[in-house]
Parts: sequence; C-alpha cells; structure tokens
Amino acid sequence: MDTLEELNSKGFVEEKIDPTLDLFEEIEKLKKEKNAIVLAHYYQEPDIQDIADYIGDSLGLSQEAAKTEADVIVFAGVHFMAETAKILSPEKTVLLPDFKAGCSLADSCPPHLFKKFKEKYPDHVVITYVNCTAELKALSDIVCTSTNAVQIVESLPKDTKIIFGPDKNLGAWVAKKTGRDLVLWNGACMVHEIFSREKITKLKSRHPEAKFIAHPECEEAVLEMADYIGSTTGLLKYSINSDAKEFIVATESGIIHQMEKANPTKTFIPAPPNNNCACNDCPYMKRNTLEKLYLCLKNGLPEVTVPMDIIEKARKPIERMLEISASLGL
Ligand code: SF4
Repeated sequence: MDTLEELNSKGFVEEKIDPTLDLFEEIEKLKKEKNAIVLAHYYQEPDIQDIADYIGDSLGLSQEAAKTEADVIVFAGVHFMAETAKILSPEKTVLLPDFKAGCSLADSCPPHLFKKFKEKYPDHVVITYVNCTAELKALSDIVCTSTNAVQIVESLPKDTKIIFGPDKNLGAWVAKKTGRDLVLWNGACMVHEIFSREKITKLKSRHPEAKFIAHPECEEAVLEMADYIGSTTGLLKYSINSDAKEFIVATESGIIHQMEKANPTKTFIPAPPNNNCACNDCPYMKRNTLEKLYLCLKNGLPEVTVPMDIIEKARKPIERMLEISASLGL
C-alpha cells in the first residue's frame, strides 16, 4: 500500500486487482459494507455512470448526498466537486477515485490572485460559478450554477456592481442575457473552448435537421450558432423534450451516454473540436476509472478534506444561492 505522499503524487491507490473479480458486484458489496454512496457526474465514463447511485451536475449531486444517511461519499467527478460535497456534508468522508482529477477552469483562478483582483473592486458583489475551488467560494458573496446564473444576477438590483468568475464565457453569456455590465475574471474550461465554429458549420450542413445544442461555457462564436444553450442537465432535458431526431452536442462527450439512454431512437453527434484530438473528453474527468473507484472504496483513499474555516465561509454563498433560487421558485 502506498504512503499518503506516494498516493497523492500518483493520485490513486496502486494495487493489482484480481482480473476474475466482477467489479460491479464488488462495488455494490463495498457500498453496503461501508454505508457508502457513489455519485457520478455526467462527464464520467459510462461504466461509472451505470454503477452510481446518483448521476447529475456537480451541485445537484452534492445536495443529494447531503440528504442521505451515508457515512461515505465517493465522488466520481473532479476535485472541486468533491470539495463541494464536503462543504455540504462536513461530517461525511468524501473520497475521489483519482486525487489528480482536477479542473482547468478551477485552476485558471488561483484564490490568492482572485483576492487581489477583488480588492480592486471593493464595492462589487462577487458571484462565482460553482466550478471553482472551496477557497474561491469562501471569497464569494453568491455562488451560481450554469442553470441559475442568469436569474441570480437578475435577482440583484439593476445598479449592483458585480464581479463574475471564474468562467469568462459563461460570464459573457450572462452579461448578454441580462444586459448587465459584469467585471469578468479571465478563466475558461479547456474542453468547452475547443469547439470549432467552422467544423460545426460543415457538420450542420450535412445534418440540416439536427439541433445544435451548447453549454454556456463555450465561446461566444459557438454559442451564436446554437438552437439551445443550457447547463448539462438543461441539454439532457432539451434532448428529451425536443421533437428533433438528431442533435449536435457542444459539451463534454460523457453526457451523450445519458442522452442515448433517455432517447434510444435519437442520434447524438459530439460537436467537433478544432483539431483531431479527443479534446471534448475532459482529461480530468476521465482520470477516474471503474478500477480506481473500486480501490478507493475498498481502501477509503484518496480522501478530500477542506479546513473547517473554509467550509464555514464557503457554505454561506452556496446558501445565499439556494435562498435566492427558492424565493424565485427555481
Ligand atoms: S469539463 Fe472543464 S469545467 Fe468540467 S471538470 Fe473538465 S476542465 Fe473542469
């Protein structure tokens, strides 16, 4: 077994697994034994989505986990999501199958630099997208999701000065939708910035009946072409409610597993990136595997912890968002 240091440098427990084991069965057994639940983000590989107790967007998953009596949460997602689960359930143990499952968007906003940025705008309210570190949430007034960002901004009086971070694309889209002048932090998600407007145009001409649907973390030039813009959950719901038979999907490709399960007669085409790589697969999300999930549940490692003072500070902007959402009936 690795020391904690070795484990953190590798990201996961390295141990040989008996190839005859049925991992699905073993994970189910361990879940019962340890009173654990498995959360899977929509961007996880299909096997992980299929073994999960809850599948969804990051905040929704953490809220579901907080409602349960489980002692252990295995968050098959990325580090900031596991931190959010810990903020909402400080008494539970939160595990992440691969400790190195980070996030380019969260990394694009180091808290010490954001703190200095914020000091330049002392009379501004700070709204941060939930895709950020616990430390960044602790520096914020209100957290938002891609589902409620527009309504959260609109809930504030028109003359409120606002800093929005860390995603500049989501921020620019919210500014456009609300007509507000937001001060944006210059962060972005590497997966959502990779789509090629030119290749999407060609793909649309080959599939003229297809609806082009996109996540608001995409660049403006891509969003301008979309028939529908929404959060990952929003895109999934749209695919279910729409009469269209074909969809070109501009977000991480993992969501297509749930879209195909919910719509077996419809066709989903991942929007092409601007080169030949599989760049619309998030490399961080895909660090988690069924094997790592099994080992993490078996060994109770790697564990994600957040200092109690940060938990307390980071909880407040999340609660503020939930209060505003409840008052708006969202
Ligand atoms: S898809 Fe983007 S925002 Fe989501 S975890 Fe990956 S890098 Fe971060």
